[in-house]
Amino acid sequence: MFKPKYYLNPETLRFEKVSLPFWKRIFNTSAGFIFLVIVAAGLRIGFDHYADSPKVTLLLNQNKNLKSSYQYLNDQINRSEKLLAEVQKRDDHFYRAILDVSPIPRSIRDAGMGGSENINDLLLNRSADFVLTTANQLEKLASRVKIQSLSLEELSEIAYHKQKMIAGKPSIQPIAPADSFWLTSTYGVRSDPFTRGRRMHPGIDLAGRIGLKIYATGDGVVTEASVSRHGYGKEIIINHGYGYTSRYAHLHKIMVEPGDKVKRGQHIGLLGSTGRSTGPHLHYEVLYYGKPLNPMYFYYEDLKPDEFSEIVAQASAN
Ligand SMILES: [Zn+2]
Repeated sequence: MFKPKYYLNPETLRFEKVSLPFWKRIFNTSAGFIFLVIVAAGLRIGFDHYADSPKVTLLLNQNKNLKSSYQYLNDQINRSEKLLAEVQKRDDHFYRAILDVSPIPRSIRDAGMGGSENINDLLLNRSADFVLTTANQLEKLASRVKIQSLSLEELSEIAYHKQKMIAGKPSIQPIAPADSFWLTSTYGVRSDPFTRGRRMHPGIDLAGRIGLKIYATGDGVVTEASVSRHGYGKEIIINHGYGYTSRYAHLHKIMVEPGDKVKRGQHIGLLGSTGRSTGPHLHYEVLYYGKPLNPMYFYYEDLKPDEFSEIVAQASAN
């Protein structure tokens, strides 16, 4: 505690004890105490500031790691965005061009990229800027990926139908080019061989020996395989889908049944002379929604015998 203070009394010439009033002594004691408290608090603040406690050091390290993790995430997002941009470019300028579909407008591609208020509301005041940035980037990326995935889904659907339509469309001749046959009647108005009157001939006649192999000209499903009531004799009708059907008439033998799925180049019957026929020939028709079209427009006459054989081989492999 405080040491007693002395002073020289000029009258007595002796050192005498200084006696302070009680309130002054209390004040001196309190001032000392307050001073000590201030010094201690100062030291504590200084210590906290310059020398981190183990807990603070741990948190700081964790924060540093977190920041670098976010940086890594951002890099990954940037890389994914670049890849996605490439896919979008290919989608618009290649896939859509091939399938004859217009590119997706920019406005749709960027849909949902404007505001990310949801994220902001959720994270505001609780997260650092770098967390918000990453969250925003991720949201934009997810929205663009979703649109891209819908686009690819649509294109795959279109491609499937195009492929099916191409496979179905009657596009080869019904008799192998290597076989001996000749065109005896073309499509259009002609004089009827029976009545001699002018009459529409809705297909082509290909003459050849009885028993010549007849092939399906496109993929499809057999809808008729019976004797016609309209003079076509033994006939096969194949539905190729997308409005196309084909008819093979005056057959000697039918080798498929209604409901059979057939492939282009599949052997379906034999050439004959059944029904209203003047000699062994195939009457071949192509119809679009029931309306006859010129079958000559539907096959490549320059298809070489070995190419035709290849199609036949593929059909029988199926
Ligand atoms: Zn005919």
